[in-house]
Amino acid sequence: MISQPHAAILCSPGMGHLIPVIELAKRLVNHHNVTVTIFAVQSNTSRAESELLKAATSPKFCDIIELPLPDISGLLDPDAAIVTKLSVMMREIRPAFRSAILAEDSPRPSILIVDLFGTESLPIGDELGVPKYVYVACNAWFLALTVYVPILDKEVEGEYVDQTEPLKIRGCSLVQPEEVCDPMLNRADQQYLEYVRIGGEIPRSDGILLNIWKDLQPKTLDAFKDESLLGRVVKVPVYPIGPLTRSAQSASPTGLRDGDLFNWLDKQPSESVIFVSLGSGGTLTYEQMTEMAWGLELSQQRFIWVVRPPTSKRTDAAFFTSGKGDDDPSSYLPEGFLTRTRDIGLVVPIWAPQVDILSHPSIGGFFSHCGWNSTLESIINGVPMIVWPLYAEQRMNATLLSDELGVAVRSKVPPWKGVVEREEIKRMVRKIMVEEDGIAIRGKVNELKLSAVKALSQGDSSYNALSQVASTTK
Ligand code: UDP
Repeated sequence: MISQPHAAILCSPGMGHLIPVIELAKRLVNHHNVTVTIFAVQSNTSRAESELLKAATSPKFCDIIELPLPDISGLLDPDAAIVTKLSVMMREIRPAFRSAILAEDSPRPSILIVDLFGTESLPIGDELGVPKYVYVACNAWFLALTVYVPILDKEVEGEYVDQTEPLKIRGCSLVQPEEVCDPMLNRADQQYLEYVRIGGEIPRSDGILLNIWKDLQPKTLDAFKDESLLGRVVKVPVYPIGPLTRSAQSASPTGLRDGDLFNWLDKQPSESVIFVSLGSGGTLTYEQMTEMAWGLELSQQRFIWVVRPPTSKRTDAAFFTSGKGDDDPSSYLPEGFLTRTRDIGLVVPIWAPQVDILSHPSIGGFFSHCGWNSTLESIINGVPMIVWPLYAEQRMNATLLSDELGVAVRSKVPPWKGVVEREEIKRMVRKIMVEEDGIAIRGKVNELKLSAVKALSQGDSSYNALSQVASTTK
């Protein structure tokens, strides 16, 4: 008798990692007859994260084993970059993960899947004698750069950001030096060494899962199949299995819809509200927040804005706080802003149920930091974007969305080069919400939405790709 396949998925801390892993688990369980155990590493900093895990178990569709993090404070500089922190956490968790997965009372997996930061645990798949996959919950261009970085490390001299020519990756779009992802910004930093290591480890899996669909990046996906291009570096199959995103109603970590917010949204005209939100970690400086507030007000468009206290320290500062929802926006927004915009805008401190908001018919645009989950949530709801990349690989995502796919607008001067002024913010908001160009962009995003929905349907590309993964056993 052939037993039901069982996938073990190792998930690193952070909402941006947990969300696509839970969606992958749902897909495997509901569409491919696979049982799943998620091994979730707990960083204990995010309330939203623990609430999301709780919500994922009611009703229960898979087993979730939380792996408490050992004390790593002695191994890390408190100011270490997020990539360094995650890499150290995932390295130190290996003994606990190994014991948990090999425990006698836990069901033996027939497939091991790790996320981007879990590649050091791939050898556990060999120990178990099962196929091992890496789930890069991102796009193919980012994967290309990541697996290529060990080569660039040998070929390129000096800092990447100081290069005068764009970085060439066989078979895909050039990467402008200023667009490289955060770990490549300083080659002397530990996060760079970790990133090069990860880039070298991914191709040692038996396959790579990407949270995209075939028609989103056909050229880059083809380059992975061509041995004269990216296929030279990655000899294992790349499976576009997405877009895997949460559906509305399940978006709020508490499972509750915020009454006031949705009552207000229900009263606004169709596609008239711009949603401004910078992911789970994004923060702005005080100066930039002031310009953002004025830009929104001057645009005279309706808005919902998820705000966090400003900080000049780093653009991903909210990853390092506990995500409490009790701050007072009037203490850092321009004087009178809340009163003047009372009838056209809502300011939500810290966290909002993003998927429910993006899927509401009154939403007409998304001012986004271009995290990959947010990007997919926007596309799948047919919402055009204003791209405001802050950290990680978001500068590349922004270029992909605005220059290649044509579903977003970007500022003339990028936000990482200094403060973007209120007039520019007003221009972008009006472009997407009221101008002719906005209509064309909306048309393109709706086309993409349709191709994404089709890819996920039974018998189509993403469905088939995940079926292939589900059916591989050694
Ligand atoms: N998110 C949310 N409410 C917020 C901020 C973020 O629900 O106020 C969710 C968002 O819908 C997305 C995830 O958190 O699913 C953020 O992931 P993404 O990859 O976009 O960015 P990251 O936070 O990892 O930078």
